[in-house]
Amino acid sequence: MDIIVAKFGGTSVGNGERIKKAAQSIAKEYFKGNQVVVVVSAVNKTTDDLINLMNDAITNNLTAKQHAEIVGMGERTSVRLFSATLESLGVKSIFIDPYNDLWPIITDSNYLEAKINMEKTTEKIQNLKILLNQGIVPVICGFLGKSGDQITTLGRGGSDITAFLIGECLNANEVIIVTDVDGVLSTDPRKINEAELLESITVGEMVALATHGAQVLHPNALDYKHPDIAAKIINFNYGDLTSQGTYITGPKEVIPIDMFKNPVTSITVVGKGLLKEIGIISSLTNILLDNDINLFKLNPHHNSITIFIDKKDSAKAYPLYHDFVLKHEGLSSISQSHDLAMISLTGPELDELEISKTLTKNNIEAELINITKTEILIFVDWNDGEKTCKLIENIN
Ligand code: ADP
Ligand code: ASP
Ligand code: MG
Repeated sequence: MDIIVAKFGGTSVGNGERIKKAAQSIAKEYFKGNQVVVVVSAVNKTTDDLINLMNDAITNNLTAKQHAEIVGMGERTSVRLFSATLESLGVKSIFIDPYNDLWPIITDSNYLEAKINMEKTTEKIQNLKILLNQGIVPVICGFLGKSGDQITTLGRGGSDITAFLIGECLNANEVIIVTDVDGVLSTDPRKINEAELLESITVGEMVALATHGAQVLHPNALDYKHPDIAAKIINFNYGDLTSQGTYITGPKEVIPIDMFKNPVTSITVVGKGLLKEIGIISSLTNILLDNDINLFKLNPHHNSITIFIDKKDSAKAYPLYHDFVLKHEGLSSISQSHDLAMISLTGPELDELEISKTLTKNNIEAELINITKTEILIFVDWNDGEKTCKLIENIN
């Protein structure tokens, strides 16, 4: 007997037929003897419709509390529909919305982007265990939370968070995200038709993909992905929870700090209007390619382009770049930095502001801090490398 958490996105419950198909897929697992928790999103674009209605009707003084209460109606409707459909198929079921005493997702009072209170949520989720052991399928609103006696939301697309959170707290065997594509593809199929399905993807890759714009899963959902819990994304079309999709493998990421073992150096070429000059970056990187030199980072500006490479390669690269500068009309001069330590940090919980403050407080001047939503790359003086790593480690 397995414990399964199945989450149905808006399209997967987009009309009566789809709700029935979704409920049948749950019934199939239920009658096999598995324990299933269902998490449902609002039907189709209901959340967008509610937001539009709200914004048209209320032009001032709308509070975040009212906003959360209004948008919550999408999920509150769909759990009722889903649970009643399950009952019509002979499955014992109850719906649980935030005004039910059994409601498990407890958050802070940041109404529209609420943070989970793990301790209280873990405690409340035991209610679901009791229901499961009684042979009842709980159907729970995705996206919503509760703070005191008020509804909160976890942010747009937050039903994915609900599913993984419940999966983790229940120690489920599997979390299944049912959506309108076959799984995770090589790109958004709405952008490129020929996108190919991936059999599996690691948590780290999935977080990076989601954080940088792929809608298929909420970027914070995998914060709650325990390595022992199987997770997959499948298409609602098959009406079968055992269907193939994309498996998401491995644990959630801790923040690993990695310092490159050798000193790194930066070479800067200076010129005018460089950002507008087509081909200059490829000329610069081709020089590295032709000489088998690895490029760590390239930083283009209007008046300069800086490349970061292994210090040991600089004796070869520097004169080649100097020749290039002499031959290239738009370029005037070239310089090289002192030895640098290259430190990279990965993880969704990075606090870049805290990192900059810590470095400044300790008189460490960064040559460059490059921040993306999932990674930070820092270059500091080689002699400050170890110290910088220790300071950052102590922030978390
Ligand atoms: P749901 O309502 O089920 O949560 P979403 O609309 O939030 O579904 O996410 C599914 C959508 O994500 C797909 O319809 C697809 O257009 C989009 N998407 C973006 N990038 C990818 C990708 N790499 N692989 C699969 N789907 C993607
Ligand atoms: N219904 C919510 C939204 O549209 C949550 C979700 O679909 O995950 O953002
Ligand atoms: Mg979604």
